[in-house]
Amino acid sequence: MPTDTILSNATANFNRAAEMLSGEFDRDLLDKIAQPKEKIEITVGPQFDDGTIHTLKVFVVRHSDALGPAKGGIRMTPDVTLDDVAGLAMEMTWKCALMSLPFGGGKSGIVADPHDLDEYNKETLIRSYTRAAMRHIGPMIYVPAPDMGTNERDMGYVKDTIAYSAGQAGTQGCYVTGKPVILGGIPGRREATGRGVVETVAEACKALDLSLTGASAVVQGFGNVGGVAAAALRQRGAKVIAVSDLHGAIHNPAGLDVPALLEHHAKTSRLEGFPNGEAMDGKEMLELPCDILVAAAAASQITAENAPRVKAKLLAEGANSPTTPKADEILAENNVFVIPDILCNAGGVFVSYLEYTQETQQEQWTEEEVRARLAKRMCQKFAEVASTAEARKLSMREAAMYQAVKTVANALIARGKLP
Ligand code: GLU
Repeated sequence: MPTDTILSNATANFNRAAEMLSGEFDRDLLDKIAQPKEKIEITVGPQFDDGTIHTLKVFVVRHSDALGPAKGGIRMTPDVTLDDVAGLAMEMTWKCALMSLPFGGGKSGIVADPHDLDEYNKETLIRSYTRAAMRHIGPMIYVPAPDMGTNERDMGYVKDTIAYSAGQAGTQGCYVTGKPVILGGIPGRREATGRGVVETVAEACKALDLSLTGASAVVQGFGNVGGVAAAALRQRGAKVIAVSDLHGAIHNPAGLDVPALLEHHAKTSRLEGFPNGEAMDGKEMLELPCDILVAAAAASQITAENAPRVKAKLLAEGANSPTTPKADEILAENNVFVIPDILCNAGGVFVSYLEYTQETQQEQWTEEEVRARLAKRMCQKFAEVASTAEARKLSMREAAMYQAVKTVANALIARGKLP
């Protein structure tokens, strides 16, 4: 198996958990848990507005349904593979289990570059994906959501395509989360992942006796997760000294004016050109001396190569799988406290769960209620994982995986012999 991929990272993390649990569960049961239930590859061929036909692949993986319908986002990137989607779906299984949500893990991939698509063609492609994948989507099968390269608008198109195909104005139950509020979405879903990241950072600071007020922070990624996390960190008194996006980083040791930077980025789609900071290389930014490093961009960003030069005291994994297992070992040797992805970025799927129940029960939640429940669950789960880590002398990742895999194993046992 190739190394440093999302799937190899997820598999290594699982194998470690299986080792820890081998005294408690049958190894055959643990091996069964690791395998995806269903991996689907579909070809779609939408015609874009200039008349050209685009033949491309979409993937849907349901990794587990032991705890309930598979849950997980739709990733649209030019290089996403079926293996990546399988690794991400596996991560969703652990994330939902850790967060005590009644969901299994799933994920979708669309092999396309969203930056190459105008709004019209992106809508066409999302509708194509939905039509092709519809038989795999449903409130009790698989419930997609936004992920890298997709957003709440796209989720509105998913819902509309499904409703329209049945000749109806809406759907019976929740088929997709992360929708616009006007179509049954929940207020605060877009910000949920970034806010959740900062809730866990605040808890980790307490555990490390580090004051968040005045702490220096570096944020990789300035999208839906990194941008929101940077703003929330600053709001809580941290000094955000550098942020990066796909094109590069911007650095100001005195602290960046994050709201002004968000405005600049929204207008120009670039960090560069922001008057109160110096441009720097995005990779080098990860090695800046700082208290908090938030990795909220792509997978496998912190590897055996650069991990020895990471100087942060605390690494918050806002993205899925940003740290390779080898890097993880190096960070542990250097006493870098890692908040693992399945805990750190779980605020998104937690609020998806609130959206799911809101739609199922036809309720309406306020943003204050959503924020309060998010903060409570993130802090509660951080405390649970930290206490498992302490009691069993494990890293936070090992403790989170231990809890998650154990929960899925118990759910399978409770279901009996067949699933
Ligand atoms: N894509 C997000 C994740 O990786 C959210 C998934 C969801 O809300 O279902 O956790």
